[in-house]
Amino acid sequence: MKHLYIHIPFCQRRCSYCDFNTYANMDDRIEAYVDALCTELVARGQALGPAASSTFIHSQVITPPLTRAALRPTIFLGGGTPTMLSLPQMERVLAAADTLVPAAAAEVTTEANPGTVIDEAYLRGLRSLGINRISFGVQSLHDPTLRVLGRIHTAAEAIATYHQARRAGFERVNLDFIFGLPGQTTAQWAWTLDRLAEIEPEHVSLYSLIVEEGTPLHQQVTRGSITVPDDDESAAMYELAMERLAAAGYTQYEISNWAKHTGAGQPGGNHAWALPTGACHHNVAYWLNADYVAAGAGAHGHIYPQRWHDILGINDYIRTVRAGQLPTAETVALAESDLLGETMMMGLRLNSGVSFAHFADRCGDDLLAVYGDEIRDLTELGLIIQDPIGIRLSERGRMLGNEVFVRFLREPADAHAS
Ligand code: SF4
Repeated sequence: MKHLYIHIPFCQRRCSYCDFNTYANMDDRIEAYVDALCTELVARGQALGPAASSTFIHSQVITPPLTRAALRPTIFLGGGTPTMLSLPQMERVLAAADTLVPAAAAEVTTEANPGTVIDEAYLRGLRSLGINRISFGVQSLHDPTLRVLGRIHTAAEAIATYHQARRAGFERVNLDFIFGLPGQTTAQWAWTLDRLAEIEPEHVSLYSLIVEEGTPLHQQVTRGSITVPDDDESAAMYELAMERLAAAGYTQYEISNWAKHTGAGQPGGNHAWALPTGACHHNVAYWLNADYVAAGAGAHGHIYPQRWHDILGINDYIRTVRAGQLPTAETVALAESDLLGETMMMGLRLNSGVSFAHFADRCGDDLLAVYGDEIRDLTELGLIIQDPIGIRLSERGRMLGNEVFVRFLREPADAHAS
């Protein structure tokens, strides 16, 4: 297996907007959870057979067309807050992960909450365990907003932690930000983007705030005690981000993701098919609809023709693994129409789009033979661009992504109708 997601469902405190499978005030279960997680990782590895070759050589600069073969093996620790684990706990998890995806050749990422990364020694420890990429949830540089969101750090602490990670030897750092936040103005967002460009992480992820039902933030917005920017204001902030980050030397390679390019063959704004060297290979694997294993409470895995997710609750998860069972909560069988539709929906999120080579590799079919009518219509509407390498969203298509994606979904029986 080439890609592995590991879920660590612990947080110091729940943020007001969060609907992830994560739990606060359960620190006393971390050790037992790590035991169960390591057991699951080894069991999933045994079920899948020997790990992929550790001699995989990755060329840093990926030449178009982008396909699954070009990606590094990846391990991604997400959450929740993986940095709630101690270094010995992290070491055990990574040793178990290594039985599935050899870590030596892999991009190994951990998400991190700046409020939980205690000091530079901890970050150096993570680096020495083979974690070579770190992703900090910063979300805002405005302290009052961070408080409204329930974040456990200030802007200054987040920036200080970023610099500590640099000193600890992390050469690949992502910063996550949210726009469309309560009370946020376009001027505030412009200021944030300028600070971001000065900080200069290799990678930036920007997400529009989604007020999820069932969250404390949703209650506050519904009651009217908090107001958030409307769709037009959020769209303006997104366009501003595209403009400012391009000016700061970032290449947008996915709807919400930007990265620096440091190798030969500078992609620049015009080289539509290139992947910047700072890109996150794990997330690109998702967008290429690649197969990946997942482990941990609530983690979702995908090995075509199946997808599954693990038991959500921490105690149920631990109990099931201790009873000698895999903690799978549900397995869903996928039809060929799912493979085709998801390859298009996910792939078109990438600025490089879906190459003919990638579609043939993932779906075993010819893109124009399967979706010729849709591609013709969408090209005439100016939403898609076709060239000799494949198809991708136009600027206009990027703003109307959902209208494009839906055209590639079909009922199972119609999957090969065209
Ligand atoms: S730190 Fe992240 S995972 Fe944890 S509650 Fe906040 S948003 Fe959710």
